[in-house]
Amino acid sequence: MKNYAVLMEIPSADIQQRATELRSLLQQASYAYYVLDAPSLEDSVYDRLYRELQDLETHYPALVTPDSPTQRVGEKPASQFISVRHNIALYSLENAFSLAEFAAWEERWRRLEPDIGAAPAVAELKIDGNALALSYENGILTRGVTRGDGVTGEDITQNVKTIRSIPLRLKLHNPPPQIEVRGEAFLPLDVFEQINQDREAAGAALFANPRNAAAGTLRQLDSRIVARRQLDFFAYTLIIPGWHQALELEHPAPSHPLPATQQNSLELLQKLGFRVNPNRQLCQSAQEIEDYYQYWATERSRLSYLTDGVVVKLDSLELQDRLGFTQKCPRWAVALKYPAEEAPTRVINITVNVGRTGAITPVAELQPIQLAGTTVSRASLHNADRLSELDIHIGDTAVVRKAGEIIPEVVQILPELRPADAVPFALPTHCPECGEPVVKPEGEAVTRCVNCSCPAIVRGALIHWASRDALDISGLGEKWLQQWVSQGLVESIADLYTLTVETLMPLERMGQQLAQKLIEAIAQSQQKPWSRVLYGLGIRHVGSVNAQLLSEQFPTAEQLGAATAAEIEKVYGIGPEIAQSVHQWFRLPANQVLVQRLAAAGVQLAAKVSSATSQPQPFTGKTFVLTGTLPTLKRSEAKTLVEAAGGKVTSSVSKKTDYVVAGEEAGSKLEKAQQLGVAILSEADLRSLAD
Ligand code: NAD
Repeated sequence: MKNYAVLMEIPSADIQQRATELRSLLQQASYAYYVLDAPSLEDSVYDRLYRELQDLETHYPALVTPDSPTQRVGEKPASQFISVRHNIALYSLENAFSLAEFAAWEERWRRLEPDIGAAPAVAELKIDGNALALSYENGILTRGVTRGDGVTGEDITQNVKTIRSIPLRLKLHNPPPQIEVRGEAFLPLDVFEQINQDREAAGAALFANPRNAAAGTLRQLDSRIVARRQLDFFAYTLIIPGWHQALELEHPAPSHPLPATQQNSLELLQKLGFRVNPNRQLCQSAQEIEDYYQYWATERSRLSYLTDGVVVKLDSLELQDRLGFTQKCPRWAVALKYPAEEAPTRVINITVNVGRTGAITPVAELQPIQLAGTTVSRASLHNADRLSELDIHIGDTAVVRKAGEIIPEVVQILPELRPADAVPFALPTHCPECGEPVVKPEGEAVTRCVNCSCPAIVRGALIHWASRDALDISGLGEKWLQQWVSQGLVESIADLYTLTVETLMPLERMGQQLAQKLIEAIAQSQQKPWSRVLYGLGIRHVGSVNAQLLSEQFPTAEQLGAATAAEIEKVYGIGPEIAQSVHQWFRLPANQVLVQRLAAAGVQLAAKVSSATSQPQPFTGKTFVLTGTLPTLKRSEAKTLVEAAGGKVTSSVSKKTDYVVAGEEAGSKLEKAQQLGVAILSEADLRSLAD
């Protein structure tokens, strides 16, 4: 989150404090997560804070304490199960949060093995579950242990035995004395949802995610409950200590060599009776890994279980052995994570935005972070109620969420990380743009500026008017409108139509040519249809679709303005809230003046009389057939053109056909037209006849 790239011997008091706070917050979170199975933070938030602490400790080694969460894997569970020491420690995985970090991982291991050329790697899905270590003695499952803190876990053998995808006996004729199988126990999504529904009905606390539900289930004291919960298991590691001979499989091939690669291990695990995730790929290059990662970035939403990344493991077991482990992770594997949708970042400032409806929205200005693949530097704080709920201070660490196309928002504040100099924030009592007092009506969440000549409201209205779906005034963007409003050139939409080249020319960065272009673009907007004008007026709840519906039923502004709310509501698709909003808009004197001024300026406040009655109908009674590809018109457009001019389009050529419009690669229809002597038109002929 923060760039600590500058190396200093002694960390400042601020940094020491931050490290202490981070450590304590992460410890609490880790306890809630591993011991209580009730996480207090999203994993992605935990991961980022963890990474921040890790970065601090790397740059200031003096900050490392033995109890730092960076120094150990997991948490020692304080539970009723017997703690057992793992035969071989269960390590964590190094995370790569971007392809660049993935490349850095490759660079690091290659530095240790500079002579290795191509190194195939297996890409597996990272299952969001719980790691288990299963011990088989002479082919029989004797122990199932959770990962715990990686060194010690809990013996949950009874529960493990209820998982159907875990064989109780391996399919081997010559079982080695010891086999350890590791993999991920997880809850399929539908099972997870069912469990939470049942818990909700029973008034019990809900599980935060399938991973925690799986952890909670594995640590149930009553194995019958575990059996009912339908946990599943994917095996991914096979360890056969001290065994060197081939295995005698029950089926299909009698003799099977010991695996030399991860890929072989997975295949063998399957033959021994385990469920192995079929979604895996042996990749020969970083590009193949990237393609695999990108493919699952979208496809994973179709899986019946959660996956939060791709685990990349060097395929050769011999190379894995040589590379070994760091204190916490294997050097030969990395988890390439999918972009987070939630992450913590610092609130640098809180500003206030006044929208075109006068709504006053507090906005958190953030230290930029990557979320859902984009850089986020601002997040909405919605309104005064939300502000007091969050109790946000400038300087706080906030959890920000952005998923898909949604506007980023602050979902949580981490008060544990609040610096001493954090500044509380309250919405201003006066509009920051015009200085007039703001209003928050009783029972409403939104605070508003109600001064209709407030520059922010005027500017917002103009930007909306010029926007693409409204009057689409080309070249007239926010930059110009901001300037014109602040210089007092325009105070209303209608003022746009009073502007001249001469008034614009003296403006900064303008010039005659540009002024001319803008004035022409504004003039052209006078031809835009009534439906767009209605949308452009920016009436609350009237989006472009509603504007279209309303303009069809009320072909003039006059008719719409005179309609009662009940009459407006009769329009198909228009609800009472919209109808009220439209009706009230037309009652306001200022809006009535605006409509009059727009009418005087030549803006279309009525639908053009339909072509059926006003336009000449050159094709009335004529039948057309369209064939081949026309140079510019699509088939549907050509059909519309014919019909608009009164003609009819049919699909087959007969004596009754008046014209065949033929484009490139016209086939049998053209031939038939020639045989029958039907007039053949090009697109250009069609256009000139239709005019
Ligand atoms: P990890 O979960 O990021 O990665 C290691 C684990 O990945 C393995 O132990 C294994 O269980 C799993 N895994 C899934 N598929 C695998 C595959 N195909 N091959 C190998 N391993 C596979 O790391 P971790 O050390 O287990 O735990 C850290 C995780 O716990 C982080 O994601 C962190 O967000 C979460 N955590 C969250 C909180 C919180 O407050 N939300 C607190 C503590 C830890």
